Amino acid sequence: MKQDNFMEVEFKADSANESFARVCVASFCLPLNPSLEEISDIKTAVSEAVTNAIVHAYPKGDGVVRMRVQLDKNEVTITISDDGIGIKDFKKAREPFYTTKPDEERSGMGFSVMETFMDDVQLYKNGDKGLRVVMRKICNSATLKEGTYAERR
Ligand code: ATP
Ligand code: MG
Repeated sequence: MKQDNFMEVEFKADSANESFARVCVASFCLPLNPSLEEISDIKTAVSEAVTNAIVHAYPKGDGVVRMRVQLDKNEVTITISDDGIGIKDFKKAREPFYTTKPDEERSGMGFSVMETFMDDVQLYKNGDKGLRVVMRKICNSATLKEGTYAERR
C-alpha cells in the first residue's frame, strides 16, 4: 500500500496568490479524507505562513514563495519558504502580539495561529537568506485507502 506523497509549488510573493496557496494545499490533502475541521485548520495555518512571506519577506520588491506538502500516512508536513530578509530573533517573532508592522493593521498573531491549528511549528533560516516554516499536523480522522494515490496519477 502506498502511503506517502509530496508536491512542491513556487509562486510570486503577491497577495493575489494567497487563496491559491490555501486551496492548493487543501486539495492535495484531500486523498487523506481529513475532517472539515482538520482541512480548515491546515488552510488557516497555510494562509498565515504564506501571508507572512508576502507581507514581510520582500520589503524592497518582488520575490518568490515556495511551498512543499508531504503526506506520510495520516501526517501532513507543510514547508513554506522565501528568500527574503528573514527573521533575526525567532523567539521574539513567535511571541503573541509581536509585529514589526503595527501601523498596517497587523496584530502579531500569525505564528500563534499556526501553533494553535497545527501540532508542531518550526522556524529555520532558509540557507543564507529568508525563512523556512515547517508545520506538521496529524489528521486523526484521516483514512488513507489502498491505491488512493496510484488511482489519481
Ligand atoms: P499578523 O500575522 O497578525 O497579521 P504579523 O504578520 O506581524 O501580524 P506574525 O505573523 O506573528 O505577525 O509574525 C511576527 C513577525 O515576524 C512579523 O511582524 C515580521 O516581523 C516577522 N516575520 C514573519 N514572517 C516573516 C517572513 N517570512 N520574513 C521576514 N519576517 C517575517
Ligand atoms: Mg503574520
